[in-house]
Amino acid sequence: MQKVDSFDMVLFGGTGDLALRKLVPALYLRHAAGQIGTGARVIAVARTSITREEYRAQIEASCRAHLPPEGFNAAQWRSFAASVDYVQVDATEAGDFRKLCLALEGREEAVRVLYLSTAPSLFTQICDNLAAAGIVTPKSRVVLEKPLGNDRASAELINRSVGAIFSEQQIYRIDHYLGKETVQNLIALRFGNTLFEPLWRRGRIRHVQITIAEQLGVEGRGQFYERTGALRDMVQSHLLQLVCILAMEPPTSNDPDAVRDEKLKVLRALRPIAGGDVQTKTVRGQYRPGAVNGQPVPGYLDEAGVAADSSTETFVALKAEIGTWRWAGVPFFLRTGKRLAKRHTEIAIQFKRAPFVLFRDTPVDSLKANQLVIHIAPDEGISMRFGAKMPGPRVKVGLVEMDFNYEDYFGSTPNTGYEVLLYDGITGDQTLFQRADMVEAGWPMSPVAGAPPHRAR
Ligand code: NAP
Repeated sequence: MQKVDSFDMVLFGGTGDLALRKLVPALYLRHAAGQIGTGARVIAVARTSITREEYRAQIEASCRAHLPPEGFNAAQWRSFAASVDYVQVDATEAGDFRKLCLALEGREEAVRVLYLSTAPSLFTQICDNLAAAGIVTPKSRVVLEKPLGNDRASAELINRSVGAIFSEQQIYRIDHYLGKETVQNLIALRFGNTLFEPLWRRGRIRHVQITIAEQLGVEGRGQFYERTGALRDMVQSHLLQLVCILAMEPPTSNDPDAVRDEKLKVLRALRPIAGGDVQTKTVRGQYRPGAVNGQPVPGYLDEAGVAADSSTETFVALKAEIGTWRWAGVPFFLRTGKRLAKRHTEIAIQFKRAPFVLFRDTPVDSLKANQLVIHIAPDEGISMRFGAKMPGPRVKVGLVEMDFNYEDYFGSTPNTGYEVLLYDGITGDQTLFQRADMVEAGWPMSPVAGAPPHRAR
């Protein structure tokens, strides 16, 4: 990666959970790796009344807490912290933006990344106030955190109001899953090899399963989760993005729009789930009190900020179908939930079974299907499962596994998952960001949200 010498990042929501746990540590790691020069500045913005020094102390504490010890270096931290400022702004008060103008004065020629790590309900007002204060320059970009609305209408509204201030080339809609190495490796796996492409179709694949299982509960974010649920929080964003990368046709180039055009076609080809299909193709559930690693944990209804009679789903599974030549008849099973047995994200591609003909008169009673499993978290890697003859005089076929582990091959580096996306936002590469039409096309599955829940434990 090339070093970026000069830019201003205005971080709205600078005192929030996301900024403290992920964004600021990711910026620090980029700085420590020498990819961000001393001409770069980070200006954190929030309503809390604290001084620049107090803010620097706050982010130092959170970086020390959230990075592994080998990821933190005191000298490098001092040099990074010197580039961090804090400005107290209430995003709903137009007058407060004058303070931001002053902080940015004389830097009109620098790339300006306006990162909105706040509730989406503030997006429109922040953009309007930025424009009214003259802060939006031709070199400005706005980064929008997910969720981008909670249904198609609100997503369109956000797109329209942000689009009134910024051109599409200036808007970066983030989904941090796309910053993960293994997720990016899906593109290399599919299009950098000849091995897989002939198999990547309905004639060869029986089904695809994508699982994002979390062991954590809502962790004090009950109020936020009540309005969101697993479907909106995980399916509409991360899971659909993974479906797009797995199912898209080869883009004609690595130009951001060539890649995004192919993803959009997948979203548009997804069969809507409505009417009776909601009962047969989806399952929703809510976690009850239980235990994690032997320790009792509360049920969803006992979490702070959750209504006693809430029907918000913390688990969702569904059968998605893609109406294209390549994928007709191949179900994509998507599932995600909180408080599941272990943290675990993977994509399992199950191939069709080989014909049994050759083994009819042998002790083999059935052949197992080949599987390609892409592990995304906590371990990153790929396993291939195939049948092999078990040693011995009699013909027996057992399933064996060939493993590739990222860390074994490439070593490990401290990573919050945001490094690549922040760098791309700063350097202006939109490939891993969602376009307005993609966000809108991701919503037709929303009828599931209105369906009565199937309670599952
Ligand atoms: P959070 O902890 O509630 O932080 C919200 C931030 O916004 C705080 O810094 C808050 O600071 C600031 N803020 C609120 N109202 C403001 C106003 N009127 N003017 C200026 N600043 C204001 O939320 P979060 O977890 O960081 O999440 C931020 C966004 O990212 C949300 O949309 C969330 O859904 C999304 N997201 C979060 C995560 C995550 O892991 N946390 C992951 C993916 C996406 P003050 O109170 O000091 O003003």
